[in-house]
Amino acid sequence: MATLKDRFGRPLQDLRISVIDRCNFRCTYCMPREVFGKDHVFMPKDELLSFEEIERLATIFSELGVKKIRLTGGEPLLRRDLPILINKLSRISGIEDLALTTNASLLTKMADDLKEAGLNRVNVSLDALDPALFQSITDSSATSRQILNGIDEAKKVGLGIKVNMVLKKGMNEEEIIPMAKYFKDKGITLRFIEFMDVGKSNGWDYSQVISKHEILEMLGNHFKLEAVEPEYIGEVAKKYRYVGTNTKIGIISSVSEPFCSSCTRARIAADGMMYNCLFAEKGIDFKAKLRSGQTKAEIKSAITNIWQQRNDRYSTERTQQTAKQKNKIEMSYIGG
Ligand code: SAM
Ligand code: SF4
Ligand code: SF4
Repeated sequence: MATLKDRFGRPLQDLRISVIDRCNFRCTYCMPREVFGKDHVFMPKDELLSFEEIERLATIFSELGVKKIRLTGGEPLLRRDLPILINKLSRISGIEDLALTTNASLLTKMADDLKEAGLNRVNVSLDALDPALFQSITDSSATSRQILNGIDEAKKVGLGIKVNMVLKKGMNEEEIIPMAKYFKDKGITLRFIEFMDVGKSNGWDYSQVISKHEILEMLGNHFKLEAVEPEYIGEVAKKYRYVGTNTKIGIISSVSEPFCSSCTRARIAADGMMYNCLFAEKGIDFKAKLRSGQTKAEIKSAITNIWQQRNDRYSTERTQQTAKQKNKIEMSYIGG
């Protein structure tokens, strides 16, 4: 089969599937409580793709070249019976890597079942170790200790693990060094993520971004780091190693050094809408296609056409204006 490529020659290789739009946290930069409060209407259950529908779509994507699947949300561990879905996806031939992005609040009790079901890796989101700061960022009653315990449990059961830390000026820059020290000692890769203008409710402004350059400068005052070559084309994080160790850090510089030219990712939201970009304004409804009885060949041909037409490269073209004007969908809906 010839590789399916978009208008900029980027192959379709990765699929991110959001399994739920709900979350038990209200991170101030993602689901601020003023917007996602008591009256917020989430997707009704019958609007979510069923596990069988997700499996059908994922199988077609794998036949079109997808090798990696990442489950996300909202908080994916809130989706009932998630290990059953993981087990279905882990059996699809051609899928070499099955991963999950989670806030880890439920990881301690679920890690074993997830591993058993066939999950390979987890990316845990954690923006602060300090207990009070953690609670104020996540606007939840969970504790940073609970997340750290989840990470330990995931490691214990043999899941691959990386930790993602979103950085925002005035929010958590003082946590950069404590987090780096903690995860260096644990031998776990910590990845710093520049704050992005996803959605339209987080009040993003360029002045709040802590850039890759600034992150490296702060780390350089405490640690000796050496650059590491990318392991594969399309790797989003620029990587560095603590000299004299095997432990790495990564920096995801989607704002200061965008990587659209190697973006090989398609996204499916929990209601079955397909998006070509994290910053898309419009998607294509695959739930309707699945539920109206379209054949595998018809769905495959629809995905092929969409990918061949793809010309998204939002971050490369971002300006302060586009960041503020665009009617972008929310991160908790499309999945990070
Ligand atoms: N709830 C899960 C979690 O937090 O890991 C999965 C979904 S969450 C939307 C996925 C990732 O997106 C998290 O690491 C989160 O920190 C990140 N994220 C959310 N809003 C962001 C923003 N505006 N800029 C950068 N990263 C963001
Ligand atoms: Fe929930 Fe993840 Fe968004 Fe935080 S970043 S509110 S944990 S979806
Ligand atoms: Fe990919 Fe869109 Fe992000 Fe560019 S802005 S890297 S095209 S998701």
